[in-house]
Amino acid sequence: MKVMKFGGSSIAGVDGMNRTAEIIRSALGEKLVIVISASGKTTRHLLKCYDDLLNKKSNNAFSRLNNIEEEHIMLISNLIYDICIFYNVSTRVNQLIKDIRSDFEKIIEDGDSRLLKAKILSYGELLSSEILSAYLSYLNIGNKLVDARNVIITNENHLNAAPDLEAIRSKAESIIKPVVDSGAIAIAQGFIGSDKNGNTTLLGFEGSDYTASILANALDANEIYIWTDVDGVLTADPKFIDDTVIVENLSYDEASELAFSGAKVLHPLTMQPASIKNIPIFIRNSKNISCKGTCINRKGDIESYAIKSITFKDSVDLHEIKNFNLYNGNGKNNLELYNGNGNGSSSIHSNGGSEKVSSDNHFIQYSLITLVGKYIQKDPKIRKDLIAYKKKYNAKIIYPDSLNRINILIDKSICCEVLTRLHEEFIKKVISISRNKKSDYKRVFAG
Ligand code: ADP
Ligand code: ASP
Ligand code: MG
Repeated sequence: MKVMKFGGSSIAGVDGMNRTAEIIRSALGEKLVIVISASGKTTRHLLKCYDDLLNKKSNNAFSRLNNIEEEHIMLISNLIYDICIFYNVSTRVNQLIKDIRSDFEKIIEDGDSRLLKAKILSYGELLSSEILSAYLSYLNIGNKLVDARNVIITNENHLNAAPDLEAIRSKAESIIKPVVDSGAIAIAQGFIGSDKNGNTTLLGFEGSDYTASILANALDANEIYIWTDVDGVLTADPKFIDDTVIVENLSYDEASELAFSGAKVLHPLTMQPASIKNIPIFIRNSKNISCKGTCINRKGDIESYAIKSITFKDSVDLHEIKNFNLYNGNGKNNLELYNGNGNGSSSIHSNGGSEKVSSDNHFIQYSLITLVGKYIQKDPKIRKDLIAYKKKYNAKIIYPDSLNRINILIDKSICCEVLTRLHEEFIKKVISISRNKKSDYKRVFAG
């Protein structure tokens, strides 16, 4: 069985839906579970609606909602030319829009509420999944839409909920397994779930990746595919750095380090459920399907000890750094921190003891760059080369508990400059040495 997740950019618009349908069609013949995000930026627009309502700008919220409605109805009109299927899906989409309007009225009356916020933000996935399911039916691709809220059972932390894997396994067996066993594709919304009282919960922003991994774990899938808008996990975020290169293999640990350290390409907890069952995760580009992408598995690339990728958090709270012992540490706490809920603190704890940093203005002054790669902390050359950064940029080099990661704390204003130089020196140069030698480049490391 394969679990395939399609992100917001992959399913946006007619072209996105077509590409998604083609990828699904080419995988037919195997048991398939599809996890779908909200289309394009719908979740962010719903969040703005919620903020508008709280800020007494309800006209803005309703007009944004009109745009969301128009976009989704247009999409259906441009995709589906069968009157019956068109009528059914439009009716369901119209009903969802009505439900959103009535939730807006409740927010206007009741004010801020975590329950209502989670409910509002869940509608993007509810809308997109209806449309994808109807479109696949129109294309004669047998499928059944499964409401993820009946399967992804979570705790009551509504905006950042933790899944109950045992409960999910039993729901997935009774709700999803019969669908795929019957030969149909199961389509479920990413990102959303429900607590034991049936209230909607969310797995945190970018949570659809996590849903895919949770369902793969629950259903003992063989492979997870995360279809997105880049060729795989790259050596850095291509939105900030030129000439990035695909990282072909990563271990679960390396990928988690990257995601927790700010690489948006994956929700930080995605690797956990998959790693428990040793299920490989493939990151692929839905707009460039010939590219093999990245494979994340238990071993990663056992031959390589170089820095594989560089990521950053633009504005860090020093409390976040203090608690930066991620993945191997307390995952729940770190998820909260990932979402920026930490309070300020001024000490940084690392393998080398703790460093003091001024506690003034601790929320936005610093950026935290993270270098990730197997055992990179053990490489004396990397450690030596980083000293130059300490001097030139007044950077603080942090060696945390995990040997696969080195953190560099710098002034926010020079983040991009330092990032570019690090990428040039520790990745591009190393790759070109490797190519020139025409042999696998192996870093000599101590220990
Ligand atoms: P989706 O909508 O498919 O979930 P996202 O926007 O959440 O897609 O994630 C993909 C984006 O992640 C890319 O467009 C890229 O800008 C960003 N990104 C950040 N770091 C990396 C990295 N190391 N490799 C690839 N993409 C990255
Ligand atoms: N739609 C949600 C978000 O924008 C979840 C996801 O796309 O993964 O965060
Ligand atoms: Mg994403």
